[in-house]
Amino acid sequence: MKIFITKKIPQKGIDLLRASGHEVTVHESINPLSPAELIQAGQQADYILNGGMQKFDADFFKNCPNLKALSLMSVGYDNVDISAATQYGIPVSNTPGVLSGATADVAFLLMLAVSRKAFFNHKQILQGQWKGFDPTAHLGIELNNKTLGIYGLGRIGFEFARKARAAYNMEIIYYNRGRNLEAEQTLGARYVNFDNLLTQSDVLSIHAALTAETANRFNQDTFKRMKNTSILINTARGGLVKQEDLAKALREGELWGAGLDVTNPEPMTPDDPLLNLENVCILPHIGSATVETRDNMALMAASNLLAAIKGEKMPQTINPEVYL
Ligand code: NAP
Repeated sequence: MKIFITKKIPQKGIDLLRASGHEVTVHESINPLSPAELIQAGQQADYILNGGMQKFDADFFKNCPNLKALSLMSVGYDNVDISAATQYGIPVSNTPGVLSGATADVAFLLMLAVSRKAFFNHKQILQGQWKGFDPTAHLGIELNNKTLGIYGLGRIGFEFARKARAAYNMEIIYYNRGRNLEAEQTLGARYVNFDNLLTQSDVLSIHAALTAETANRFNQDTFKRMKNTSILINTARGGLVKQEDLAKALREGELWGAGLDVTNPEPMTPDDPLLNLENVCILPHIGSATVETRDNMALMAASNLLAAIKGEKMPQTINPEVYL
């Protein structure tokens, strides 16, 4: 079978596919494929493994009638028109769970870094602005016994809440569309409505998927309702936060600070106003970027494709209705 991989992924995943005797082509360039190039690849391949942030829209699925399955090396699938995939009979899989710990670590890293203005303080040294120890300067805020609000308490949110509770005895509150009883029982997490999440959180961390419902969910109105001592963390997708509103809220002191692993757009340009604010820490979408996690994601994505090639259901299918 012909397998096309849209971006270089860890070798373990490629080796697993090649060891099964399949013809594997990898798009080695750092530049994403254009929509036309992606369609061309989808017309020549039987299966696609997506290692990047390529967009698979209805036009793609319509124009690739021979494609048999699409395996994503990510848990997020906001870049795929799932209903179009289903309409054209293409099963799509993702890699849930294996990246939760690593991504929760980045949320934790950002929470701590923002609370102590770590990135800004580091920049001060680089710019020769560190004039010596000053008992009244460089002051951060502490996290002990504070309230952590989770917007979207699923796999990653759970891991982050568990770590924050263990490290700082943080009280966990959350807002989802449904209840997370495991988090309530094991972490004492308390379900609150969206407004209470905004007004009660000392740290508010975003973990819901990007959908039409969640896009720009955090904006001027929501920032106004948050505590002006609070920290906003986003490791989900940049599109959940209206970034110009966030910059304004931070400049006007409506929030203490923000930590972002994801931005809109990505990559963020070096002249983005958010980068120069003292209470902001930004990382280049590295949530799952550890050697161990990326290996596991590549192996899971490859295993999903191998199942599809054998005529089995992909274990992590996002649109199981395609098999009905
Ligand atoms: P998950 O287990 O599905 O958790 C997402 C949670 O969000 C669910 O508990 C869901 O609960 C809740 N949710 C969904 N829609 C909502 C809405 N409209 N309002 C409130 N809550 C909502 O997903 P995960 O594995 O934790 O991953 C979460 C997201 O993280 C992914 O979608 C991806 O975009 C992002 N991510 C980023 C990185 C990175 O590198 N920074 C790495 C991995 C993942 P209900 O269904 O009950 O609402």
